[in-house]
Amino acid sequence: MTKTWPITLSQLLESLPRAPGDNGRELVRKAYAFAAAAHEGQRRASRELFVEHDLAVAHIVSQLQVDAPTVAAALLHDVLLPHTQLDEAAVRKAFGAEVGSLVAALAKLAPYSEGLSTASREQTTEAVRRALLTIIEGDARVILIRLADRLQDLRKAGDLPREERESLALEAREIQAPLANRLGIWQLKWELEDMSFRWLEPEQYRKIASYVAERREERDRWIQRAIQALKRRLNEAGIQSELTGRPKHMYSIYRKMQEKGLNFEQIYDLRALRVIIESDDPSLCYQALGIVHQLWTPEAKAFDDYIAKPKGNGYRSLHTAVLDEQGQYLEVQIRTRAMHS
Ligand code: MN
Repeated sequence: MTKTWPITLSQLLESLPRAPGDNGRELVRKAYAFAAAAHEGQRRASRELFVEHDLAVAHIVSQLQVDAPTVAAALLHDVLLPHTQLDEAAVRKAFGAEVGSLVAALAKLAPYSEGLSTASREQTTEAVRRALLTIIEGDARVILIRLADRLQDLRKAGDLPREERESLALEAREIQAPLANRLGIWQLKWELEDMSFRWLEPEQYRKIASYVAERREERDRWIQRAIQALKRRLNEAGIQSELTGRPKHMYSIYRKMQEKGLNFEQIYDLRALRVIIESDDPSLCYQALGIVHQLWTPEAKAFDDYIAKPKGNGYRSLHTAVLDEQGQYLEVQIRTRAMHS
């Protein structure tokens, strides 16, 4: 996910999917003008202008390939706050029933789920999760905008008082990240997790982030060489594929350290690769797996077949881990294009 700040209107318009004869740009432009006028110079607790926050939230949802009314609703998500003195009817009048009801539904969600204390966390989590799931049955777009809203709050949470920041982060970890996971919105899930990790365990986060940054160049060069070697083998076998180096997320590194009892020295070299098979035939994934295991030495205990046994959220992929000639550890995920999207 791009982290450019602040987002401009033209960047947002640029990120919209293009369709011939569609007036999505006009709608989004109009929503921006409406939000800018409604908030007129008002700043949030984290000190940014409301309209800057709105543009950023809209940009997050836009990158998830949603339709223009959803992007417009994201721009308008906080336009019914008391300081604007607007009501649902005003939004409906300007934008019609579809955008109007999305904005009204967003306004009905409490700004923060109060009383999310550690003591009653489990209960609270379950209660809020149930509430969110009920909303999904109505319109999933509401929850999508809500998740983007929360992510943007977390990105700017460094400017909030510590208590507020930690409560946001806790809620993201307990509710929004699992929800994004269940909905299969990976980009949001990863960043929600990384951001909540960053604010809840700042020291651990900083350590991991600096290790990852230090070794980035060397690791990227190594990954490029690995991609070339594997790509050649797959081409020879007639398997059309796209190979990418997969960024490791801070929180997943941290969790791996916890789960496997590893220290930084053992973990900071983690490298990961993703193979997307262009054909829809799952058997090619297994063929590609065989090629990976011929090229490098498989780690016996590190294989998972989520194609034969998909995860609860529908995730399907093969996961393996191998060692190269120099004993460098590499995680490889293999799936078809259809499984990926
Ligand atoms: Mn907001």
